[in-house]
Amino acid sequence: MAQLSDDCFAFGGPMLSVDEAVGLITSRVNAIADLETVALVDADGRVLARDIAAPLPLPPFTNSAVDGYAVRSADLPQSAEQALPLDGRIQAGGGAHAPIKPAHTVRIFTGAPLPPGAETVFMQEDVRIDQAGKVVLPPGLKPGANVRPAGEDIPQGHVALRAGQRLRPQHLALAAAFGLTRLDVVRRIRVAVFSTGDELASPGEPRAPSQLFDSNRFMLMAMLRRLGCEVSDLGILRDERTSLANGLKQVAGGHDLILTTGGVSTGEEDHVKAAVESIGSLVLWRIAIKPGRPVAMGIIAGTPLIGLPGNPVASFVTFVHVVRPTVLALAGSLQEQLLPIPVRAAFTYKKKIGRREYVRATLRRGEDGVLEAVKFPREGAGLLSSLVETDGLVELGEDIIHVEPGRGVGFLSYAELL
Ligand code: AMP
Ligand code: MG
Repeated sequence: MAQLSDDCFAFGGPMLSVDEAVGLITSRVNAIADLETVALVDADGRVLARDIAAPLPLPPFTNSAVDGYAVRSADLPQSAEQALPLDGRIQAGGGAHAPIKPAHTVRIFTGAPLPPGAETVFMQEDVRIDQAGKVVLPPGLKPGANVRPAGEDIPQGHVALRAGQRLRPQHLALAAAFGLTRLDVVRRIRVAVFSTGDELASPGEPRAPSQLFDSNRFMLMAMLRRLGCEVSDLGILRDERTSLANGLKQVAGGHDLILTTGGVSTGEEDHVKAAVESIGSLVLWRIAIKPGRPVAMGIIAGTPLIGLPGNPVASFVTFVHVVRPTVLALAGSLQEQLLPIPVRAAFTYKKKIGRREYVRATLRRGEDGVLEAVKFPREGAGLLSSLVETDGLVELGEDIIHVEPGRGVGFLSYAELL
């Protein structure tokens, strides 16, 4: 299981910036070294475990980029049209063709291998056939035109896929183009997920009048699965230090990460921090992020734990900015930076200096065509509607204190976050 080195305690205590907290957590998390081999069709979303060097050039052979007529570059018409007789026909997937005869042209189709000696192809739209059946070629075509040389995409031996790459459909396409059927990937990161709180009932179970259904657990489990994790759903732990501590202790050995939601603030009924301290060590518990602030990070029997706040929006935001990089680090994945896209604020907002804040917003196109972020009208960190009815998060950096309409801000689309 993932182990954390011990000297991380030195950083505990004060409120850390998001970057400091993530830097601290990810530098102490050791990447999982266990590999497994999966079929190419099952590899989407997995983390590649080894570099892949091209076993063959792409394209594997020089071929025509168009339907048309292949010629030797020496036979290209220079200043006037020239009619050349036909010397055969090659279609895509067709067998080997004899070398092209001088002063001849070969009928060729897209993807077909060029006949030996030919380096250039005329598009069929650019030629005409004369009464004698000869192909009339116009002057002015450059040598090598309309040809895809072997290896022009990827030369043989080039490291085309890197270890740590989180595989997306285009990476699978490349592996398939190399003829690979199986890939070595990092085994799935095992994450134990708990909700905490006496006020919570699981969907499907009876709900007392003073309870609400646990929604965070389902959101977090889905987010983890989108990151390729294997999730253990451990239900709801009561707001009581000993049972919390026992619950956490039980799962520590068998998982790479423990994720909890709720119970990390400083209220009398917030017991996660104390439970972690009683059976492990607390590394940090406050991050300068809104919504979010209380985010605990600790270690129990060598297994990292991240305790997210209970308010659903805070839980969502801190998952994206703290848990996501931790999961990527555990999987040995290249950190995929979240780069906010520049948009124009269509709202007024005041914030605290020194804290990073995320504003839920919808995008629209302004009259001049520029994208504008419209803030969700209400701010509560408990409003699920605010996540459901918006397109993403406006990121306001630590040094910003207020936003006026028209100001440029960075926007992170929900579509890009996971
Ligand atoms: P806490 O961080 O434990 O103080 O929780 C803050 C608030 O978040 C609670 O009052 C609940 O309304 C809400 N909350 C906590 N946990 C969950 C959960 N798992 N699902 C939905 N809402 C929750
Ligand atoms: Mg609670």
